[in-house]
Order: sequence, then structure tokens, then C-alpha cells
Amino acid sequence: MSKLAVEIKGLSKAYGKLKTNRALDNVSLEVKEGSFFGLLGPNGAGKSTLINILAGVVRKDEGLVKIAGIDVEENQKASKFKMGIVPQELVVDPFFTVYETLEIYAGYFGIRKRDRRTEDIIDALGLKDKINAKPRSLSGGMKRRLLVAKALVHSPEILILDEPTAGVDVELRDQLWKYVKKLNEQGTTIILTTHYLEEAEELCDEIAVVNKGRVIACDTK
Ligand code: ADP
Repeated sequence: MSKLAVEIKGLSKAYGKLKTNRALDNVSLEVKEGSFFGLLGPNGAGKSTLINILAGVVRKDEGLVKIAGIDVEENQKASKFKMGIVPQELVVDPFFTVYETLEIYAGYFGIRKRDRRTEDIIDALGLKDKINAKPRSLSGGMKRRLLVAKALVHSPEILILDEPTAGVDVELRDQLWKYVKKLNEQGTTIILTTHYLEEAEELCDEIAVVNKGRVIACDTK
């Protein structure tokens, strides 16, 4: 049996004082190691809530969540090393250049100077011309690529992209997918959330459809 990159069992999360807004309702999912997994669903389906629980920034109400066999609540630090997350919002620190941003992140993960891949990552994401630029001078698509770069500094086994093509032009989008596909071919598990069926169909080998906090279908393409 192949190993699991992500294992989710009976996951539920409701927001609000009275817990009336059920963002996730008894969700179970398995993502196999090395797969390109799509989480497809309309706005408000619960995709970001699920990703935020994986990332450890939202607390679940019930259920089990494991990343590469590690329980995300029991051992948050170890699980963070296993995954890189590209958030939906374009948040980047305005004070640091592209290079500095990645170096700070590598430091945060405790990666020794000689083991860092800062320049390689910048190169791979086509940000070489912007290596000393501050985020203010980057276009939306470049900021998105910087966020992808940030998520890769610790060479994670699992890369999670939350609606990564929102606001990205076609050319940049194609470049981004080419790179993400290459990472997948090299063994990185990719999890992508999207509300575009075509995007999920084109890229993913397995797709889970979520709606109103429930998984309504999950199958290979
Ligand atoms: P998606 O990413 O699929 O668009 P979300 O996970 O963002 O879905 O949202 C699922 C539901 O949870 C929505 O009804 C949304 O309004 C609600 N929700 C998400 N985050 C919060 C929050 N921090 N507080 C209250 N409600 C939230």
C-alpha cells in the first residue's frame, strides 16, 4: 500500500459563538504520497478552512489530521517541516528584498547557510531580475511566485497551494504550473485548491469535490 501524505478522518469545524456555521462537516480524505491532488469546490465550500487546519492556524473541533504520519496538533513543529503552504492572500513583508525574505525563512526553519537553496529557488521561479527588489515593486504574479518560493525554502515533501492562480496572468500561470508539475515529478506531493474545474482536471491525478463543508465526490480523474 502506498504511504499517505495527508490523512484526514471525521474532520469537523464550525465557526461562531454558537458554532452554527459548519465550515467542515465530518470530512475524510486521503492524499497519497507523490500525488497531485485537487480540492475543488465553490467559494465558501470549506477549502481554506481545511488548509488552515493542516497549517495549524485554525483549530479543528473534531477529527484526526495527519501530515506524513504526524498528527498536526500533537506535533505541530514536525508537521510544519513536512509541508510548504502558499496562502491565498498575497501577504509579503514590505521591508525585505526577495533574497532577504527567503533567507529569513530559511533561518526560521533552522537551515544552515551552506544548505540553503535561496538562489536556486529564485532562479527556478523566474525572480532572478528581482532578487534585490522589495515586494512593493513586484507585480501580483511575481508576489505569488515569491510566496511559492517562500514555501519551498525547507524543501517540503508536500506543497499546498490555496487558489494560487487568482489574479495571475496566463503566462505566469503557465510558468507556475510547469514548475509545480516538475516538483511533482521529482516526488513532491502537491495539493491544490481551486474553484476552476478545468484547472483541477488539467493538473490533478485525483480530485475531491467539496461543497458546504462535505466531500461529495473523491476519485481519480
Ligand atoms: P473556501 O475556501 O472554500 O471558499 P472557507 O473555508 O473560506 O471556504 O469558508 C467556509 C465557510 O466558513 C464559509 O461559510 C465562511 O464564511 C466561513 N468562515 C471561514 N473562515 C471563517 C472565520 N474565520 N470566521 C467565521 N466564519 C468563517
